[in-house]
Amino acid sequence: MTKLPFGLSPSKIKEHSNCVAKFFYNYYLKLIPFTETEATIKGKFMHKVCEDTAKGKLVLNSDWEKVENWEWLKEYIIPKFQKPQGRIEVELGVGINEFNGDVKTGIKMWDKNPDGSTYKWLGQVDFVKFLGDGKAIVIDWKSGKRFEHKLNDYTLPEEELYPLMAKNELLQLEFYALVLFLAYPSIDRVRGYFIFNKDKVTQDVVFYRKDLDKLIGFFNCKYDEIYKQYLQVKNNNDTVPVEFHNPTKLCDWCGYKDKCLYALKK
Ligand code: SF4
Repeated sequence: MTKLPFGLSPSKIKEHSNCVAKFFYNYYLKLIPFTETEATIKGKFMHKVCEDTAKGKLVLNSDWEKVENWEWLKEYIIPKFQKPQGRIEVELGVGINEFNGDVKTGIKMWDKNPDGSTYKWLGQVDFVKFLGDGKAIVIDWKSGKRFEHKLNDYTLPEEELYPLMAKNELLQLEFYALVLFLAYPSIDRVRGYFIFNKDKVTQDVVFYRKDLDKLIGFFNCKYDEIYKQYLQVKNNNDTVPVEFHNPTKLCDWCGYKDKCLYALKK
């Protein structure tokens, strides 16, 4: 049985779409240890404050002022989504060709697949609210600026749809919808919200159970693709092939530019 030595998540899939080499430098070879930046610290803090508030746990203090546009969140957003009935933290066991999953709320549900391997998709849903009548809401708080996105057309054939999904900012919400559909057979409709507090806007899209096969297919395909690339790197003495590099103008800001095979060969 095959497995990747690291877990996958929607945000990692986005990074993989941008530059496969950087993805392997980061998550397999771990050439540079992860360090917090001002942006990651700020993002985590905002998530914590919003979550605690929504759960009624936040104590009123000066921390509030550190969150951008807090007044807007407090007045318009938090009341709308208050009193969640559940919050999900999941690890889905994922085989190459099928989800083995069952998901429960509030626990890490999958440490190992039945064969002892540890395929993992990792994701933490910021906020879930069950509305009854087969409907649920999921929220992803965004500390950055609003970005453009539109719902994928799940009637497209896989070879057209999956590349679009991989580059679409919606991937996180698609993953959360997938998790909810797997975890709760009674849920037929998931409305996913992005809340961009920097720009004071919310955006939402709706996912339907009828598209579940396409959602599952996408994540399984990605696993398969990344696993094959992983074998290529491993069998190549842990060297990332030149063709995995995707140089763009953003390379100047890449932490690997001094180690990057492509950059060194230029
Ligand atoms: S420098 Fe550019 S090509 Fe090299 S790993 Fe970074 S993003 Fe990829």
